[in-house]
Amino acid sequence: MKIIVLGAGIIGISTAWHLLELGHEVIVIDRQPNAALETSFANAGQISVSYCEPWANKDAPLKALKWMFSKEAPLLFRPQWPTFGPTAKFGGGWQQWRWGMQFLGQCNDAAFECNVQQIVALGAYSHLALKDIVDATGIDYNRLERGIAHYFTDQHAFDAAGEAALLMQKYGVNRQVLGRDAILKIEPALKSFASHIVGGTYTDSDESGDARVFTQKLAQVCAARGAEILYGHDVLALNMSKNTIKSIAIQAVNTLARGKNKDINGHKNDEFEVKTLIADAFVVACGSYTAPLLRTVGVDVPIYPGKGYSATFKILKPELAPNVSVIDDQAKCAMTRLGDQLRVAGTIEISAYDNSIDSELSQIRCRMLAKRVETVLPGVCDTRSLEEGGSPNYWAGLRPATPTNIPVIGKTKVGKLWVNAGHGTLGWTHGAGSGKALAELIDGKVPEIAQGKAMNSGTEFKFYGF
Ligand SMILES: Cc1cc2nc3c(=O)[nH]c(=O)nc-3n(C[C@H](O)[C@H](O)[C@H](O)COP(=O)(O)OP(=O)(O)OC[C@H]3O[C@@H](n4cnc5c(N)ncnc54)[C@H](O)[C@@H]3O)c2cc1C
Repeated sequence: MKIIVLGAGIIGISTAWHLLELGHEVIVIDRQPNAALETSFANAGQISVSYCEPWANKDAPLKALKWMFSKEAPLLFRPQWPTFGPTAKFGGGWQQWRWGMQFLGQCNDAAFECNVQQIVALGAYSHLALKDIVDATGIDYNRLERGIAHYFTDQHAFDAAGEAALLMQKYGVNRQVLGRDAILKIEPALKSFASHIVGGTYTDSDESGDARVFTQKLAQVCAARGAEILYGHDVLALNMSKNTIKSIAIQAVNTLARGKNKDINGHKNDEFEVKTLIADAFVVACGSYTAPLLRTVGVDVPIYPGKGYSATFKILKPELAPNVSVIDDQAKCAMTRLGDQLRVAGTIEISAYDNSIDSELSQIRCRMLAKRVETVLPGVCDTRSLEEGGSPNYWAGLRPATPTNIPVIGKTKVGKLWVNAGHGTLGWTHGAGSGKALAELIDGKVPEIAQGKAMNSGTEFKFYGF
């Protein structure tokens, strides 16, 4: 079959890879000049199969309400005004409020446990799929197979972590609860912060690596295997007739594609021309932008952006930098070593479709990350601002979030139209498996994970539309 994948983030490129593996002809379209330049660009780098609890739990509503007025809050709900007309392109405030109500509906113990099981199953399945891709391609992406450690500075929070670990163990996740000394043995880089740490948890099977590097290299491998990758092209429309997608309309959007009459792959490219592409199947993997695109053909998926921030600093003292990816419970951020750099990322803002970092609020949230690195790992990185002579890389991305934290993978009610999106906080972790499963579904197969074979838990993953 000829299959067009819309979106060249980790999800779209993993899907393309697996479709090629099954012998299909693949075209990938993305508006950016390369793969992984939106949400997959600078995430925390964690392959976090074992730290995957959904945001929605029974305590979340009260916490979110309390945090609404703090610019440094880990989870910040910023209500948007419902809008009409062209400004409502992304659903205006209506979609945010609707998403919020759906999220509230998940804030109870029964929904939490049910969602955890699905997420754990997808994580385990995806970890194997990632290893398979690495074995097959030899891609190097600053991978560290050293596990993930989560440290606590508050005794009450640490006590609660014990209960969470028990729940995760029930679903086959080996999350150990450890005292301070054991955590320091696992990650000695935390020594200068040791007096604040009361304990932690550790999962040795988790790992870390650079999602952007992996995705861009995998895209190159896909292209070398014959996939056509059209960067710098915006998807304008899904053209539907008789409840089936017949074609898509695309147009060159960036200077690379427009000005030179060729895109970066050397394909001829007539300026401003709207092109129509036909295929046997279309996969929408446009991250947060999946929901507004699918709404144009009457498909309604509960995906809304959850903005998060990251900072990447040069490591000055490699011998004192962590090798284990860590989660700081107090600051709700993750720190991951990526070669000679340290990435720190975190916080969630349920706000608008806006990934800029120039507002006062964004600046505060970026500075928070630098401050925390300096507190926990003093002098290890160059956290100076540009004005002070440093070279930090601050970034924000829009996590495609669903109220359950379970991605939407499967077939829509519209013929030939498939979806792979909504991976929220775990798209890097779930990318390889989501791509594999969707490719198999399109191919008419039943993925192992739909048969309850992942994680020995018997959990059957529920695919969208099946
Ligand atoms: C701060 C932060 C930290 C994170 N940390 C982690 C982590 O440690 N571990 C983890 O597993 N996950 C993490 N994530 C989540 C992860 O990064 C995302 O879930 C993942 O990148 C989503 O991938 P995607 O392919 O769905 O979306 P994207 O990477 O956004 O890809 C979608 C693509 O679609 C393209 N597109 C959209 N609309 C159109 C259009 N109309 N026409 C053409 N192209 C279009 C975009 O250009 C983009 O390239 C983090 C996210 C953030 C923000």
